[in-house]
Amino acid sequence: MFRNLGGSGAEQVRVPDAEAAVREMKPIDAKERLAMLDAIEDEGLAWFWATDAEGQLTYLSHGAMSVFDPSRKVIGEKLNALFETATDGTGEGRDRPLSFLLSKRSKIVDQPVRVLAKGSGGDENVVWWSITAKPQFDKNDAFVGYRGSAKDITDEHRERRDSSRMAEYDSLTGLANRHRMNRRLTATLTAYRVEKRSCALMMLDLDRFKQVNDTLGHPAGDELLRQVSQRLERIVPEGSEIGRLGGDEFQVMIPDMDDRGELGDLANRLISMISQPYSIEGSRAIIGTSIGIAIAPYDGIEPNELIKASDLALYAAKGGGRGQFRFYSNDLKESAEDRREIEEDLRDALTRGELEMHYQPAVDSKTHQVKGFEALMRWDHPKHGPISPGVFIPIAEDSNLIDALGEWALRQACEDAAQWPGELTVSVNVSAQQFVSDTLPTVVENALSNAGLPARQLELEITESVFMGDVNATDAMFRKLSRLGVKLALDDFGTGYSSLAYLRRAPFDKIKIDQSFVRGCTQDGNSSAAIITAIISLARAMNMVTTAEGVEAMDELEKIAQLDADMVQGFIFSRAVPQADVLEKLGTGEMRYEPVGPARHRADRRTLFRRVSVIHENHHYTVMLRDLSRSGARIEGLVDVPVGTQLVLDLGEGQLVVCTVVRSQDATQGLSFEEPLVSDGAGGLCTRHRVSPYMLASAGMPLQALPAGNYSMPKGHGGPHTAPRFMQVDVSAGSARAG
Ligand code: C2E
Ligand code: CA
Ligand code: CA
Repeated sequence: MFRNLGGSGAEQVRVPDAEAAVREMKPIDAKERLAMLDAIEDEGLAWFWATDAEGQLTYLSHGAMSVFDPSRKVIGEKLNALFETATDGTGEGRDRPLSFLLSKRSKIVDQPVRVLAKGSGGDENVVWWSITAKPQFDKNDAFVGYRGSAKDITDEHRERRDSSRMAEYDSLTGLANRHRMNRRLTATLTAYRVEKRSCALMMLDLDRFKQVNDTLGHPAGDELLRQVSQRLERIVPEGSEIGRLGGDEFQVMIPDMDDRGELGDLANRLISMISQPYSIEGSRAIIGTSIGIAIAPYDGIEPNELIKASDLALYAAKGGGRGQFRFYSNDLKESAEDRREIEEDLRDALTRGELEMHYQPAVDSKTHQVKGFEALMRWDHPKHGPISPGVFIPIAEDSNLIDALGEWALRQACEDAAQWPGELTVSVNVSAQQFVSDTLPTVVENALSNAGLPARQLELEITESVFMGDVNATDAMFRKLSRLGVKLALDDFGTGYSSLAYLRRAPFDKIKIDQSFVRGCTQDGNSSAAIITAIISLARAMNMVTTAEGVEAMDELEKIAQLDADMVQGFIFSRAVPQADVLEKLGTGEMRYEPVGPARHRADRRTLFRRVSVIHENHHYTVMLRDLSRSGARIEGLVDVPVGTQLVLDLGEGQLVVCTVVRSQDATQGLSFEEPLVSDGAGGLCTRHRVSPYMLASAGMPLQALPAGNYSMPKGHGGPHTAPRFMQVDVSAGSARAG
């Protein structure tokens, strides 16, 4: 067996085995050894280096010099000015920084280091070496420096880092993936539990993303997700971690955050930023987002508890009509089950005959003559009673039931309208999802011919969300429907993603001005009246009719007529009523509707009849909450409470509100809150902060997420035990009874 020992001067020897080879080798002289080292250096197989006792470089293979800037001396520089151990999370930094190893004069074995070479530069300029070295000592055992070798591992390092990144980050958006989010959440919650800190978790789910993906294609969907993640990165506070869990689901972890006021503000900002239009390959796309929020340790202590809580909150936000946020609360568990039940039952509602179409008149704003009716779906659930279409239509859209329901609605409405005298129009709502279905024109055509209704008497109400789909497909659908001869109305105008450009793109016959503009239009200094005027003049210029929706009060009706909307729809004339009622009314030959309603619109003042606890000293009382605003409340049930008394109102689930009695008469007190309440995202109010489970734990209770129910202040806040100061009366039945 031949062995080539390499090197220019080394001769080839024939040896029976390796040991013999060593025995038979002639020692090479110093010159030859140097030449051998030169060859190794030149080949780039390894480089050599040495330092003095101060850690300054005394030698480096000349081949290695080329990675440094030519103007740099290198020799004489400190080793830790040239190399640095990794701190980029690849795990290659090992435990000890290089300077530590050097100061300990330890052996260095295959230590990866970043070479601090040519400026900081981009990723492509970064060079990684693996260095190995041994400390050298003189005869007297004094340290004289290191001698070592180095080799370039830049390529391997890059590969390793990329693959570890792939395991932690989402390749589409660069955000953390589910795996990393779970790891981070677990680490954070574990550490925070010891340090008694809080952490908020937001779950986001994009609304209508599927539609964009289906109509514009997957590459466009991917681009949209990238743009969404960029927007998220711009808004979330520093120190947060954002992840994409898959599909159109995002998660944001915000450490040290438990302020529901701030979280609500952030959620609103996120919703409005994500709802701004996107430009994707020349198309305009519009989506929205729903957000669920849970906060540790209040809503969950363990990662899976917190994730589940934020999921439930998200589910509730979506059920509430999308584009909303929700905080987790204990009663969500129940409503999530309700929604699942509704979805189940909705599948059979049609065949069981639980659905019905009702009709609301649309009248001329001046003569009050009826022009047509809007068909609105009604569902009488055998167990839950009437369920609002605002609740079940979105569920139908999510569970692919909308096509069947929509087809039934069209047939039924056409059949019913065919019975009406004269040439009254029936308006049927069409979901954006029905609008992208190729079968819609056929479904409409069949409904008309089955009922024998002329196409001009059918109007389809469509919302602006249909415009976020593929432009060509949308335009083609509009053309097909127009060719059938049906009318088209743009519903809820001004609410979502209003763009006047839409009006030009589609052959609308009518614009329906959303209720929200009607609501404010009678108040001074409100911009609604100006907006209504603008919409009406625009519509007129484009030959479209306008309908103002949701008119309830006399002053609103007057204002709408004055602003010159063509038609009015609202409770002031009639709610949606069954076909039998329509026939009865029209059967009399009376085609006018009389306005009946309050003189002016009253702001919704919800009368509350909720039982809550009040804590005074260390006593709990049960009272009725009659009124609740951001800054105060009215309670009923305690007798003779002096003005100025400090109370704590217990709204349940750890929501304690410190307040002062500012008015008191008999069994009723007006309370003023020390800190105002904040929006709970669902039209209600909640406290900014809650009693911390850590605080309850330190008072001797087990550490757990806050269960439902009332809270007393933890021990130490109640003062000495005293007799109850106030008499509690039962006011729920209206009669004051001593309690
Ligand atoms: P929409 O199309 O905007 O319908 C008008 C809603 O406003 C109806 O609610 C109606 O009852 C209500 N409304 C009318 N006048 C007044 C008023 O003066 N004051 C107030 N506060 N409300 C008024 P409804 O029936 O609960 O329907 C809610 C939504 O459900 C509808 O909003 C529509 O988007 C959807 N929807 C209803 N029926 C159908 C249907 O057959 N198909 C589809 N796809 N959606 C439907
Ligand atoms: Ca409508
Ligand atoms: Ca509407």
